[in-house]
Amino acid sequence: MHDAMENKFLPLYTIASGVGVEVLPDLYSYTNQIVNICLVGDSADNFVLVDTGMPESSERLVRVIEERFGENSKPKAIILTHGHFDHTGAVVDLVKKWGVNVYAHEKELPFLTGKESYPDPDGTVEGGLVAKMSPMFPTDPVDLGRFVEALPPDGTVPDMPEWKWVHTPGHAPGQVALFREKDRALIAGDTFVTVKQESLYKVLTQELEINGPPRYLTTDWMAAWESVKKVAALHPSVAVTGHGVPVGGAELKEGLEQLVRDFEKVAIPEFGKYVDRNH
Ligand SMILES: [Zn+2]
Ligand SMILES: [Zn+2]
Repeated sequence: MHDAMENKFLPLYTIASGVGVEVLPDLYSYTNQIVNICLVGDSADNFVLVDTGMPESSERLVRVIEERFGENSKPKAIILTHGHFDHTGAVVDLVKKWGVNVYAHEKELPFLTGKESYPDPDGTVEGGLVAKMSPMFPTDPVDLGRFVEALPPDGTVPDMPEWKWVHTPGHAPGQVALFREKDRALIAGDTFVTVKQESLYKVLTQELEINGPPRYLTTDWMAAWESVKKVAALHPSVAVTGHGVPVGGAELKEGLEQLVRDFEKVAIPEFGKYVDRNH
């Protein structure tokens, strides 16, 4: 294994950093600096970790997990919504510690096995200070070797029996959202987020605003729009997104409807190197 996230600590925080929220009895969301991870499951021997936070955060995440499920507890598996640095920051350290399998969409595997780097973040994109800082974000792939596997093609999620994965490309080629039919819970990854992630001020304050994926790393805007339509059509009752606070009920419903309708105006930047306004 190779840990491209080693020594890549970034001093970026929100007021929610370090805060955990029990969104549902078996869905816990925790904010690590500027990104959310989820613990899905209800007991120490039956839970899964979704996404692995920022670089150099493994000790913190282990503490969070042990506080919730007891000392030495470890997840049955790690599911990655996608392979960006802020979702894979601690993954190599955690796999080394626990020896558990990691699952991601097959199109993300090149970025998780050291074969391919993501395109450079777009520091010129319309948005704000976080966008301008983005060129310093790591894009080198981690290498999880034999510990990473593709999610099953039938839509099931290993060790999350009631959940299905839904392919939501655009922000990353193999991004997935996770959805549970019985209570319509959604873990969205960065398919959409609930904060204007390009703006340092809004990242700091976490003002709720249902928005498209973080702009500086999104390379295919038409696919990103289709993916928002796809998750909106699931009519989620509650959603945890990769960035921002959890959201549910009418706020989520209306926010998603509006995002689908106004995606071109709200989500797609006016300018940026991955923006083609002449499609
Ligand atoms: Zn991302
Ligand atoms: Zn993200």
